[in-house]
Amino acid sequence: MPFSDYLGNAPVVSALRGMLAQDRLPQTLLFSGPRGIGKATLARYLTAAIQCREAAADEFCGSCHACTRILAADLSLPEFVKETEEREKLPAAKRTDNPLVFSTHPDFLIFPPDGPLRMVGIEQARKLRNAAQFSPSEGKRRVFVLDGADRANDEAANSLLKTLEEPAAALTIILIAENPYDLLPTIRSRSVPFYLSRLTAEEMQQFFERRRELSDKERRRLAAWAQGSPGAALAIDVEEYLARREAMLAVLRAALGGGFADLIGRTESIARKTREKLEALIEMLFGLLSDLLHLRYGSGRLINQDIREDLRELAERVRFDWLEEAKKGLDELDELRRRNIQKQIALEGFAARLSSLPHGG
Ligand SMILES: [Zn+2]
Repeated sequence: MPFSDYLGNAPVVSALRGMLAQDRLPQTLLFSGPRGIGKATLARYLTAAIQCREAAADEFCGSCHACTRILAADLSLPEFVKETEEREKLPAAKRTDNPLVFSTHPDFLIFPPDGPLRMVGIEQARKLRNAAQFSPSEGKRRVFVLDGADRANDEAANSLLKTLEEPAAALTIILIAENPYDLLPTIRSRSVPFYLSRLTAEEMQQFFERRRELSDKERRRLAAWAQGSPGAALAIDVEEYLARREAMLAVLRAALGGGFADLIGRTESIARKTREKLEALIEMLFGLLSDLLHLRYGSGRLINQDIREDLRELAERVRFDWLEEAKKGLDELDELRRRNIQKQIALEGFAARLSSLPHGG
């Protein structure tokens, strides 16, 4: 399972391999880009290449004792997902006592976001800092991955900064972030950045070719919905996606019809489905608004191509400034989400704002 197995972002892969070949890997690397495009996978591949003794310096074999353990740390696998979800139910103090870190190889530690808000906390940052003092036990170097560096609270970010300021020998730190600008500028400036972009249509096609279990219809829908993100394509539950989309479309329709009472009913019933995270709803609304914008003013490929006609009918009823305001409202909603606002209050506020806007046109 060598680097040629990795889909997308060939220039980044090639730059990293060049550094490996010359033994010039930076102390701290920052992998950023949209969710599900392979940042954590690349971190595992890079770590395998650092530890593997069976392949060239810029390659890994995928089958030796080091490689298999490192590659096993795929946090999207059910066993890791389950453990992370179980932790959400714990009281905060329990999580604090036992900060989350996954390790399938003694020289490879992954610190993922934790708890219901999926944040990296100070206890995790302290654990990382303590662990940084030890030397490698098997390999040449140790590799720590902070997956969700943009989800570190202020305390955790400051502790991380201290670790980066006093670099330990034989330690490589890989920071993973969706948005690098959510990191402290001082952390950013101490890392060598690698931006990973969404996969092209052809690369996504290659990805789906490996997924024989999917029907053609599923592939087509998932390819559009996932927007160049293989991880997103794997994570999408079609039934859930359709239900969520129907609910968010109803919010937009009610807002355009000016029926505020109807909207409140809608947001109540959505909020009652507690499994739905506000983050997923916001993402769906962003996608729908982006499709409306495309239909009204441009062309481009739609995310929700499968309901193009329904969307076209809606798009004909909105003006550019309505879409702009709706987008602003969503940005604010996303900001409130980070501060843990209650879901129903958040959705009602957004809906109220939409319904008060003039939309005709
Ligand atoms: Zn190997």
